[in-house]
Amino acid sequence: MTNEEQKLGMGCSITRRDFMNGVAVTGVGLAANSLGLPALAAGADYQPVVSPAYPPLNTGLRGNLVPAIADFPDIQAGKYKAFPVANDAITEEYDLVVVGGGISGLSAALFYQRGLGPEQKILVIDNNDDFGGHAKRNEFKIGDKTFISYGGTMGIATPFPYSYMAKSVLQELGIKVSRSSELTNHILETKYKLGTGLFFDKETFGEDRMVLGYGRRGMSDFFTKTPLNPKAQADLIRINGKNPDYMPGMTEAQKVEKLKRMSYKDFLANYAKVDPQVMVFMKNTSGRNNKFIDTMPAYEAGTHGSAGFNGLGLKFEEQYSEGSFTFHFPDGNASVARLLISKIVPTAFAQQPQNMDTIVNAKLDYSALDKADNPIRVRLSAPVVRVMLEGTAEKSTGVKIAYNKDGKLQAVRAKWVVMACYNRLLPDLIPELPIVQKKALLNNVKVPMMYTNVVIKNWTSFQKLGVSRVTCPGMYYPSIGIDTGNLVGGYQAVGDPTEPINIHLNKSPNHPGLPNRKDQNLAGQKELLTMTFSDHELIIRKQFQRVLGPAGFNAADDILAITVNRWPYGYAYTYDTLNDPDMPEEQRPHVIGRARFGRITIANTDSGAAAFTNTAMDEANRAVEEIWLTQGLR
Ligand SMILES: Cc1cc2nc3c(=O)[nH]c(=O)nc-3n(C[C@H](O)[C@H](O)[C@H](O)COP(=O)(O)OP(=O)(O)OC[C@H]3O[C@@H](n4cnc5c(N)ncnc54)[C@H](O)[C@@H]3O)c2cc1C
Repeated sequence: MTNEEQKLGMGCSITRRDFMNGVAVTGVGLAANSLGLPALAAGADYQPVVSPAYPPLNTGLRGNLVPAIADFPDIQAGKYKAFPVANDAITEEYDLVVVGGGISGLSAALFYQRGLGPEQKILVIDNNDDFGGHAKRNEFKIGDKTFISYGGTMGIATPFPYSYMAKSVLQELGIKVSRSSELTNHILETKYKLGTGLFFDKETFGEDRMVLGYGRRGMSDFFTKTPLNPKAQADLIRINGKNPDYMPGMTEAQKVEKLKRMSYKDFLANYAKVDPQVMVFMKNTSGRNNKFIDTMPAYEAGTHGSAGFNGLGLKFEEQYSEGSFTFHFPDGNASVARLLISKIVPTAFAQQPQNMDTIVNAKLDYSALDKADNPIRVRLSAPVVRVMLEGTAEKSTGVKIAYNKDGKLQAVRAKWVVMACYNRLLPDLIPELPIVQKKALLNNVKVPMMYTNVVIKNWTSFQKLGVSRVTCPGMYYPSIGIDTGNLVGGYQAVGDPTEPINIHLNKSPNHPGLPNRKDQNLAGQKELLTMTFSDHELIIRKQFQRVLGPAGFNAADDILAITVNRWPYGYAYTYDTLNDPDMPEEQRPHVIGRARFGRITIANTDSGAAAFTNTAMDEANRAVEEIWLTQGLR
């Protein structure tokens, strides 16, 4: 360990352990996976909390857990092609098995039971230690306070364009998105007057400099304080103000067509003619589905209200409104997943019914999820390795599902299966799928993502700087911000500045610069799959020290806990006008890929080519409807 690493606290965990409840693990690395393969090593220094009975309390490397995905390479290499469990060893039988316990899988179980009644035997199998998929709750017990945060999907958009079905699920779960403004915590702006700062780092911009007042001062006042070169400053002021028409002589239709086929970066360089340093300043800017400026269609940037377009005389039409992402539970959409659990396994909660106000603090008994007498069972830490029809697609009598649990390959039998897991894995989980369908499924190259939570001892450094959020355009994490939570259920994350607080960080690890979006996503997935927890910890400590150190922050002392939710398999792949050919919907790969295969139907947001809560529910509904249609029940 270098001196610098030691100074940053890479070797000192004692203080942190004193602060934290739960079981501190003293060994090196996270638990080995169920096959006994070594998990990615966490740093010898870090002592993640491991709480098998209550997974949200686990810290360290989370998201796509190492043991949950350790079987993927073997599945892809065909290791389980011959069904790996003997027929006479299969004793459990279900009406429906759902593979994948994200919002889509949990919704599928709810819909099936709601349609056919509680006598239906249903099993949801998931590879992670917690249900919810991307809807993941992170908890930190610091003294007598529990911080709750989101490790993945956060917001529920205003229920437009929610389908009738998705709206009715929210209603059934007791969620009123319209209460958003009542529940948003504004204390940092109203009481502490904190704003946003921009931190320019030396490696990218020539010097470390914090510039305050972004969004509060005029653009001109703000950008002239930055270390950007004078031409870049002037260009940023220009494109953020009233722009001239950069595409004179073209009709509206010609402009739209051109903007759809060029990247935002090309628009800025070739039409707005900005200084190359503007592109450096914007290198961490990501748009819908985390596309960077070189893969984001210029027209899409325009629909987001990005800088540079207001002189073109175009009315940018939003394809759909992403609505109000200001409404979110403190644990994001994990509360949606928990509410779904309260419907399908009500005995897991001591009290019933649950609603949006009670769910945040409701105690959940994970040991109740997979009880033999539950009409719906939820089995966790059980990666499915093979799904096989019994009989042909036309005349199948059932389906066998093999999974890996507690280091042992096991299997169950079902009349029907909904695959609500990653669609790109389906060609290897079900090698009998038609070749055209397999090819289509491989199109779904998921977007790598990372949501990190860092609990710190106090936030006096933020207060001193006058910021609640710092944007870092050149650094690994593009922003560092206080997680104010949300006041739903009486939750109150923010106390006095001398008290601990959770800091939330987002990162899009896809690699700008590579030729297309899928290559960028794959490179980001690889990066996330190879980084150890120590790698993450060091990056985090360095960035916190650089940005907050001048205001008294000491990474060695002030960092109490870290949870890195890494999602190599994040957002579903979505199409856009720059990277994908135009074609009728029914010819799109996700539609071909999600076709029913005998007694197996396919859900997950991947099958809807849109990464939203409502899509997860809608695709679950379609997959269940397909079963009923086949049975003549619709
Ligand atoms: C970081 C992040 C932030 C997001 N933010 C938002 C947001 O604010 N709002 C929004 O609407 N959407 C957001 N999304 C999109 C999110 O993907 C969807 O809204 C939705 O939650 C996806 O649900 P799903 O059930 O389709 O997929 P998932 O949540 O991915 O669930 C699939 C499940 O299948 C499991 N699985 C995979 N393979 C196997 C296997 N072999 N065996 C068993 N189980 C398996 C996975 O581990 C997972 O638990 C976000 C996504 C991410 C990653």
